[in-house]
Formats: sequence, structure tokens, C-alpha cells
Amino acid sequence: MRITSSLLAIALTGTILASPAHARTIAPAQAPSLSLDTFKKVTEELSSDAFEGRAPGTIGEEKTIALLQQEFQKAGLKPGNNGSWVQAVPLVEITPQNLSAITITGGKTPPALSFGQDIVYNTSRVLPRIDIKDSPLIFVGYGINAPEKGWNDYAGLDVKGKTVVILINDPDYAMEGLDGPFNGRAMTYYGRWTYKYEEAARQGAAAALIIHDTVPAAYGWNVVQSGWGSSQLVADTPEGGAGTAPLANGWISLDKARELFASAGQDLNAQMAAAKQPGFKALDLGQKISFSFDTTTKKTLSHNVIGILPGKTRPDEVVLHSAHWDHLGRCPAAPDGDDICNGAIDNATGTAALVTLAQAHAKAGPTDRSLVFLAVTGEESGLLGSDYYAANPVYPLEKTVGGINMDALSMGGLARNVTVIGKGKSQLDTYLERALSSQKRASDTDPSPEKGYYYRSDHFSFAKRGVPMLYFEGGQDLVKGGVEAGRKAAEDYTANRYHGPKDEYNPNWDWSGAMADVRLYYDIGRVLVTTTDWPNWTEGDEFRAIRDQSAASRK
Ligand SMILES: [Zn+2]
Repeated sequence: MRITSSLLAIALTGTILASPAHARTIAPAQAPSLSLDTFKKVTEELSSDAFEGRAPGTIGEEKTIALLQQEFQKAGLKPGNNGSWVQAVPLVEITPQNLSAITITGGKTPPALSFGQDIVYNTSRVLPRIDIKDSPLIFVGYGINAPEKGWNDYAGLDVKGKTVVILINDPDYAMEGLDGPFNGRAMTYYGRWTYKYEEAARQGAAAALIIHDTVPAAYGWNVVQSGWGSSQLVADTPEGGAGTAPLANGWISLDKARELFASAGQDLNAQMAAAKQPGFKALDLGQKISFSFDTTTKKTLSHNVIGILPGKTRPDEVVLHSAHWDHLGRCPAAPDGDDICNGAIDNATGTAALVTLAQAHAKAGPTDRSLVFLAVTGEESGLLGSDYYAANPVYPLEKTVGGINMDALSMGGLARNVTVIGKGKSQLDTYLERALSSQKRASDTDPSPEKGYYYRSDHFSFAKRGVPMLYFEGGQDLVKGGVEAGRKAAEDYTANRYHGPKDEYNPNWDWSGAMADVRLYYDIGRVLVTTTDWPNWTEGDEFRAIRDQSAASRK
């Protein structure tokens, strides 16, 4: 079915906005044949129980890869990886076994810790056994080493073989505004749990424990408990994770962290306050931790699916549309016994939108630059598929113009606005504003920058290597019901369906909002593959320097 009349009306009134200069002269794309049927059908199929929640390395993966290849082929794309539709992504599943008791020695009243309730950990190292023995506990504040900000919580510290205790988020997360040393209320990458472990590994720590705290973490202890108690999927690298992860990494509950500090004669609140100050000095907690576990490891080859619409005149210049196809597979059951995390919103919608875009772009015919459609694996386990592609790009990153990532499209109905995660970071915003104006919609910044969404989906794998990426979707200002309705819908999703068995396909969804968003993704992609422009990061942005290093290859 073609797009609805209201969208057609929107499409035909596209106006032209300011710079970049040559983008101004490009006429808005002809109304594409965005198929709502395809969008619905592929979303429904991918999120059906038959796909078992699309966990990497499972039958769910096999079915998903087969469906995507078939749909990309039917849409008229070419295989995107040197004649193949797939890029193999080596992963290894690590499952802790035979967990020992956890002992803390030293201190006045060393806390008793039980795994799963008070503390959780695993390893991303491919080793048969992890043995942490009498490892001194060192509180390192936010555990940040940011030379460009003159901040180093590890300054003058030797934590080799020790266990570092770290705060989540970054030192100024509690600020109202966004103008603190670490962007105020907005979380920087330094605030992400992945960064904490990466830095602890660089410092040589044997283990790293993050103190869970609901507000700065932006999710409850229950999310940590369910995410960390079982197997972990990590990249299968020749180093087996050495250098990128300590032997063990995990979380400790806030209550137990309080007891640990009290046992050291310290007040956790006072130490949290001290950690926010420049020049913070790490603290030896005068106690040692011991625990061990065996692991079973299962190596698996998961797959990114890649299709291409080759460009006519500048085929080596590439524009990306991306979405992750994977989800959690089987997960802790709901009260009704349903244990399949179907991942309808997250991210069957984004993957189906990728197919819908491929169809429409192919129907509209090739343009000057190439369009690559990238469905990546392993996002739920830490952006594994997109990180693997960006580290092993089929199309060189320096000649990758930019891209648009889609993750969990909103099914709340048409919104007057879109929420741009990372608004203002790059010149791609100009392309978005241009497309929005043809829909008479507006863009807003992320209402919850403290949640660090910018670092939690696949565009980040490209952004951190300098490729400008857009990540946005329908906002909360719904045409039907306004911001209140939008906020309610978002809260309902987060509370009742996000990463749970009830994120299921709903035949009563109002698709008008998602279709309007897909139209924006289409328009921006279409203009980017026509222009000779190379949009860059905004001056001063954290990724601008790395992009400028390869400027010569874009001359
Ligand atoms: Zn997702």
C-alpha cells in the first residue's frame, strides 16, 4: 500500500533550508514508494515466536539472516560484501560455572556478599578459570582518565592485580544544565559501564566492580541482576579479551557498597561527593576480595547482513542505513510463562524499516553515491556486530559519507517532533532539518541525556571512529494527545515491555508516526547519495579530530 494521503501532502511541500551550499540546490526526493505492507509484514515476522527472540548463534539468527537476504534480494539490492550477503562476526559465549563463595577480609565489619543478590560479575576473557585471590579493593571514584579534560582518577596509582571500585556515570551528572566539565546532566562516554571496564583493563586491574545507583545508572538493580547473572556474548578476538577487559567485571549493590565503605571507616556519600571534585584521590579500602569461577566458552559465528545499491558516478562514496536485527532470545519468563523476548519494537521495527527503505531506494533507482544497508548482530551484548564491521569495514570509513541508525521505532502515532540523540554533534543535522521542514515537524534534543543513549546503539561504533551518524526517531509530542500521551506511551514501554517478553507485535499499532520517520530516513539518505558534500562533525565535537585525520582522502 502506498503512504497515506496526509503523508503524501507532507511529502510534496518540501522546502529548502540553509547550508551546506550544494545541498541547497538539490530538489527534494520524489515521493518514494514506502510500503507500509512490507514494514508491517517484516516487523510481524521477525518478532514472531518462530524467530525465538533472534538471539545471535541460534535458530532465530538463521531464520533472520535468511529472511533479510531474501528481502534485500527481492528489493533489488546487490550482495554487499564482495559477492556475499553476510559478514561473519566471530563471537564467544562465556558462561560462569562453579561460582565460589565471595570473601572480604580486613576492615572492621567486612560485608557478606552473595552472588546475584548483592554482587554480580562475569568475564569477557576467554579463559577456563577466573581466580581473584586476596585482591586489594581500591575506590577510584568515577574511574576516568580524560587527558583532554585534565582529569585522571588513576593518577599516581598502581592498580595492577587489584580490584577497583567505581562509580557509574560521570562527575557532573547531577547538574541541571549541560555545561559541566563532562557535559553536565548529559552522560559522556566516560560515564558508560563499558568505558569503566575498558579503562580499568588499561590500568591493569584484575577486577572492576561498579557501584550500582539507580539514578546515575538510569536503570534499576533488577536490570543489572537479570543482565549479568548468566552467559555473556563477547567479541571473539585473537587476544581473548586481554587488554580490553579485566579478568572479572561486574556490579555491587548500593547497600553492600555502603557496608564495604563503612567497614573501611569511610562514608560512601562523602566519598561520592569527593569523587566529583577535580583532583580526587583514590582510596584504599583496606580490605581484600576473593572469588573464583570456571567458565564454559562456546565460540559462534554470527553475521551482519549487508546489501548495496551501487552508485553510478561515485560508487566508492558510501552512505549507510543501519539497524540491529538481534535481540535477547529466551529471557526470564513473564508471570504467564512467556519466555521469548520477541523484540518487536527493539528492533524488529528498525530492521523492517531497513528492508522498506531498501525497496524504496531501489525502486527510485541508483544515484551518484552508493547506499549500503547494514543489519548488524550483537547489539544487545555491546554493539558487537557494528563494532566488528567498523573495525573491519567492507567500505573504507574514510569514504563513508555518514549514516542513519534506526533502533526501536516509536509506535505511539504521529508526533509533531522527532527526538535527536546527539543533536548538534554533526552537520548531518542540516539534512534532518531540511527533511523535517518538508513534513512541518521539528527536532528536539534528547529529553534524558543522562541516560547516555548516544553510546547505547550502533551509530556509536561508527561515530567513535569518526563517521558522522544520525540517530533519531519520533518524539513525545504526539498529534493525538500531545506530550503527555507521548510520555505515558514511552513510560509504559520502558516499564512493561523494554527488554522483556511483552515487547511483542501489536496489530493495533498506529504506524503513521513510524512511517513519517522512515520517510525522513529515506529523504536524508537520498540527498546524501546525490550531493558532493562531506558533512563533518561540529567544531569541537569529541569525534571531529579523528574524522579530520582522514580529510585528505575525501578531497
Ligand atoms: Zn535496540
